[in-house]
Amino acid sequence: MSQEHFICRSCGKEVKHSAEERPCERLAGWLMVTQWGGRGVVDHCFFCCSDCLRTWADARGPGVPDVFLRAFDK
Ligand SMILES: [Zn+2]
Repeated sequence: MSQEHFICRSCGKEVKHSAEERPCERLAGWLMVTQWGGRGVVDHCFFCCSDCLRTWADARGPGVPDVFLRAFDK
């Protein structure tokens, strides 16, 4: 219940963190993409490295909706 996990959308790498830990510490170096699906639908995608993000973005091809990229602060 108090544990969350993040899975890289590209390679499937998984990182767990508990409520006592701040995600930004466990996910240092990870990238998060917030994708707006319209009508209040927001999809958060996590990637363990920029290469994985690029692979994912390339696979989606052109016409990707507005994507906001934000790196976790250390
Ligand atoms: Zn990855």
